[in-house]
Amino acid sequence: MNFASGALPSRIAICEVGPRDGLQNEKTLLSIERKVELIEAAVEAGARSVEIGSFVHPKAVPAMAETDEVARRLARKEGVEYRALAMNLKGVERAHAAGLSKVKVTVSASDEHSRKNSNASPEEVIQSFASCAAFCAERGMALSGAISTAFGYSDIGVMPLERIFPIVEAYLALGVREISMSDTTGVANPAQVYENMTRLRERYGEVTWTLHTHNTRGMALANIYAALTAGVSHFDASFAGLGGCPFAPGASGNIATEDVVHMAHAMGIETGYDLAGSVALARRVESYVGHPGDSSMLRLSGTEFCR
Ligand code: MG
Repeated sequence: MNFASGALPSRIAICEVGPRDGLQNEKTLLSIERKVELIEAAVEAGARSVEIGSFVHPKAVPAMAETDEVARRLARKEGVEYRALAMNLKGVERAHAAGLSKVKVTVSASDEHSRKNSNASPEEVIQSFASCAAFCAERGMALSGAISTAFGYSDIGVMPLERIFPIVEAYLALGVREISMSDTTGVANPAQVYENMTRLRERYGEVTWTLHTHNTRGMALANIYAALTAGVSHFDASFAGLGGCPFAPGASGNIATEDVVHMAHAMGIETGYDLAGSVALARRVESYVGHPGDSSMLRLSGTEFCR
């Protein structure tokens, strides 16, 4: 273990995943207008990448039923990447029809979890994305891949890194070069993140790695710092820290965008975000979902210390 100081990136990219990973867990369903408004406000606050929703069956995730319409109504800003999560070719086709140029697919690293959900191993699930990859290549759409439960799963324990390698290789075989390591249930710790991201970057130099954190156990910012020292410069975060697990009441959600922005700026790392704008957006999100968000910057907001 060597937390190399002085090797931090001068700039990081933060993808705002609140409109998808955050809102999909909310009891309050937001109107299309409000979703569009929040996405546009995130871009206004500095987001250069936004996960605007997902294309899944409306019965499975009612909060994401109108992603097509959200994508159509958005005022697109030049230079901003608008992406959505898709589960299969149908979802990718819907994303294309709605004018999106990027989609993300995801697989669970847990074999047990994967077999329970899809009756297939993670590698087999990725192979089922071959039609998605072909469609994207033909239409000039970008395709990225996520690996959920990449560091472990509450019921199973620590995910061995060796279990991740064949999953990465299955993605590479499809031409996917952007992979998100998702700590879905917030079990990763900083030492593990440093070790795993260092080894993954060494082994697969062609991949752009993203770290997707949940703050379930309060370790997300420490994990992001550990990933920074390992050379990772892409992160997912959610406005107001939305994204708590609906099955674990009170559980923290995705790490809050405004907290990542604050930490990065405090360390002299550029994000392109405006912290005050990011906090103001988180406040608006709180009022729309009807409950308090979860971030340190929100708790400080309105005081002189919120900077
Ligand atoms: Mg997530």
